[in-house]
Amino acid sequence: MSALKLQSTVTSFRMLTPTVFELKFRPDHPIEFKGGQFVSVMIPGAGPKGRNLRRAYSIASPPENPNTSIQEIELCVKIVDGGSGSTYLSKLRPGDQFEAAAPYGAFVYQTSSERNACFISTGTGVAPFRSIVFSKDYQAAPPKKAWCLFGARTEDEILYDDEFSKVSDVEWVTCVSRPTPEFKGFKGRVTDILRNMEKDFPWKETDFYLCGNGAMITETKDFLMNEKGVEKSALLLEVYFKPEDPENNDVS
Ligand SMILES: Cc1cc2nc3c(=O)[nH]c(=O)nc-3n(C[C@H](O)[C@H](O)[C@H](O)COP(=O)(O)OP(=O)(O)OC[C@H]3O[C@@H](n4cnc5c(N)ncnc54)[C@H](O)[C@@H]3O)c2cc1C
Repeated sequence: MSALKLQSTVTSFRMLTPTVFELKFRPDHPIEFKGGQFVSVMIPGAGPKGRNLRRAYSIASPPENPNTSIQEIELCVKIVDGGSGSTYLSKLRPGDQFEAAAPYGAFVYQTSSERNACFISTGTGVAPFRSIVFSKDYQAAPPKKAWCLFGARTEDEILYDDEFSKVSDVEWVTCVSRPTPEFKGFKGRVTDILRNMEKDFPWKETDFYLCGNGAMITETKDFLMNEKGVEKSALLLEVYFKPEDPENNDVS
């Protein structure tokens, strides 16, 4: 599957949370991709001396057979203050066109049916897991057991709760690191959920897929390898960004 240049037409735009939007688009020709891969979007004129920039966005929708339907692809994007890529996409509306290329990436499902899978994300890092868990490939050959741990900073930033909580063979667990006093769910970070797992959690029989904030990924990886003896080969990582700004250093 080599990446193809796509002229894309926006079909819908809607806010999923106060800071995250869903963008659906149709590429001018169908593409084959695997759950977990991403598109590279061209941001016109946003670079130095008016050059174009590129930004990566995970595909949030499952792969469809490109030959059987008019393909529609979904992205799930956080609006970053002053960020050229996320701001550009946030202004697109149905009928607008943009340029992209896809598919890219090796963050794809690769667990055998004898092992378990634990998908761990913060914020929009849940996007590739939505593409994987709702894909026909995954559903045809699921892992022995699956967990999907999701962390948000505030409860109104929890994504896809209604969809994941309905999937019977995936244990969906959310946590919030800076909840309001009314919040009744799990308070803390994804590493706190891991620390709270049952004593007999099968650490060594599980593949861990980590996606989102780089600080969360480093902390989670250190915990799994140093405290639970998880092998490096059982970890798959997709780092969205490495925060330079202490405000973005929240590992929720
Ligand atoms: C493989 C890959 C897949 C990605 N998929 C997605 C995706 O599905 N959805 C998505 O929203 N982003 C995703 N990103 C991040 C995305 O590529 C951009 O970095 C992000 O949109 C910010 O770009 P910008 O030009 O708006 O801001 P920039 O000016 O480039 O970034 C400013 C700062 O924003 C912070 N930041 C970047 N991304 C995020 C984020 N998602 N949440 C909170 N803070 C952030 C960082 O501290 C960064 O330094 C992905 C990144 C990679 C590498």
